[in-house]
Order: sequence, then C-alpha cells, then structure tokens
Amino acid sequence: MNTITITCDPLVDAHVHLRTGPLLRTVAPETARYSDMALVMPNIAPPVRTVDDAKRYELDIKGVIRAASEAMDATFRPWFALQLCADTTPQVIKEAAADDSPVLAVKYYPPNVTHGKSDVRDLQDMRPTLSAMEALEVPLCLHAEVPGEDPLRAEAAFIPTINWLVQTFPRLRIVVEHVTSRAMIEAIKGWPKHVGATITAHHLFLTFADVMGARLHPHHFCKPIPKTPDDLIALREAALEASPKFFYGSDSAPHLNAAKRSAEAPPGVYTAPVAPMLLVDLFFHAGKPDAFRRFTRMNACTFYNLDETPAFKLTATCDLTAQEPPTISQKEDPHWFFAGKPMRWQVTRTTL
Ligand SMILES: [Zn+2]
Repeated sequence: MNTITITCDPLVDAHVHLRTGPLLRTVAPETARYSDMALVMPNIAPPVRTVDDAKRYELDIKGVIRAASEAMDATFRPWFALQLCADTTPQVIKEAAADDSPVLAVKYYPPNVTHGKSDVRDLQDMRPTLSAMEALEVPLCLHAEVPGEDPLRAEAAFIPTINWLVQTFPRLRIVVEHVTSRAMIEAIKGWPKHVGATITAHHLFLTFADVMGARLHPHHFCKPIPKTPDDLIALREAALEASPKFFYGSDSAPHLNAAKRSAEAPPGVYTAPVAPMLLVDLFFHAGKPDAFRRFTRMNACTFYNLDETPAFKLTATCDLTAQEPPTISQKEDPHWFFAGKPMRWQVTRTTL
C-alpha cells in the first residue's frame, strides 16, 4: 500500500460555537479531538457578557469534554470572547484583561444579522469601551456585515465601519471574523498589521451556488453567505499564503437537523469533525505544509499572544492507491459538513 503519513500540530480554532446542553455534549469533543486551543463564541442564551459568565461556561465545557475523554480534557484549553453589549463597560474590559481571565477578546454582532441578539445598534455608542479595549489590548472580533444589506454585499458594506474604527482607535486590535469576499480581503491587507481576519474551512469550499444552486442546501447556509467563484479564489489565496493577518477560525456552528431542515433554516455549518481533513487536503495538495502550520496554528498564537507549544500531535494519512477515496460518514444529528462526500485524508490524534 502506498500511503503518505504526515505528523502535524493540533489546530488552534480561533472562532467556534460550542452551544449548550445536549448539543454541547455532542459537539465540544469534536473540537477538542483536533484542537488544543479554541476561542469560543459568546452568543449562547443568555450570552457570555462577563468574566464570571465565561468562567461558568468554561466549567460546563471542560466537564463535557472530561466525560467524553480524560485525554482530550487534559489537552484542551478553551478561551472566550465576551459579547459586546450596551452594558459592556470599561470596567468589564479591565476584568477581561486580567491575568487570570479566560477571556481573549470581545465579539460584536450587529443587530439582526445572525443567530443571537445584540443591543448595540452602532459602535459609535461604545467609544469608552472601545478605548479601554485599545488601551488594554483586548481585541475586537467583528461579525462584519451591515444589517438589512443585500447578503452578497453586506460584508463589503461594512468596510467603512472598520475604516472608522482604524482611524478612531489606531491601536485597537481587530479580527474580521469569517471573511468571505475579495473586497474585504483587499481591505484587510491595507489596514495596519494588528487588523487581521479568520477564514473558515467551509468558506474555502463553497460558493453561493452550493447554497442555492439547482436545489436549496440548508446545511451549506451560513452567515456571511458563501459568495462568487472569484471570492472563493481570493479566500484560498489568502489562506494558502498564510500571511500573519489570516488565520483559521472554523465558525463551526451546529444546529439540530430539525431546525436546519425547517422552512426557516438558521445559518451555520457544522465543520468541527471534518475541518482538519479538508484543510490537510487543501494545503498538502497545494504543496504548502509551512502555510498549513502558520494558518492553522502559529498566526492565531501570535495574534492572541498564546503559547504555541502543542499539547499533542495529529497524524494525517492518505492512501494513494485507493481508486475511490472513502466517503465521510457520520453517525448522528447534527449533520456534518462534507458528509457523504469523498475524502482522501484521515486525521487522528496522537499523544506526545
Ligand atoms: Zn460564528
């Protein structure tokens, strides 16, 4: 058998939704299996608004992972983003920036663009908080879409808001989450080096036609919506180049199948169980193993000032002799991205 075997470091997932309750139990181990660190998003109900909320959520997450696997619990470190709310005061930022805080960043969702509620209509109303974040080096993570805009243009329409942030708070660290358009990628390259972006795995594989082609595919529906083939090319170039401004954030966002297959499917693609295979496939077939390491780990560690020492290793294998690659199968609800499709690579974890 002619097999390629590659050993690599675990991923750092700089944007993931782990949910709560039974869904948390199902999905959190899938992230901990392949990642030793993840930045967990705050839009649960009620949202994560304070350091105490984050510490409580951390206990829930660690408990669930420990119940699934003590080995995974020993190697997984969740970090948290607080949700920017009208009552996110400079004092909240000070607590978030403390040495013993599990909070790495603050996430802004414009109202009515995605799952979760926001009571901040305009970032201009949050100047004292944004000043505190700038001074204390707490990054602002942005869901960068203008509410009410055409979904294909909503991300590009947010560029003026970031221009205002960059001019008003010149040292504020900013992450444009789940970037999807050439226009935003070009804008990010033009802003200072402390303005970066995450790229998901699924946006490296989908265009608008995969969401709404011959049929409607609710499991591909997400925000921001996947865009044109040209946008896809720009995203792949940015990921494969892996300059320090671009790093991996899965935005793995599971919803139960009953909701996803309803008349009003919520946005979100559940990629945690398959993203490592997709990324290995993309980067290693492009001949970019160094970019893989930068994109999936080092760039996020540098941006967020995290210890890069890996807690375990991943082994990726590809059987070159297989006439037909095996298909990705899944056992349970919620639906996995790429389920039923061929995948040449297997990825498993190994202890150090
Ligand atoms: Zn998200």
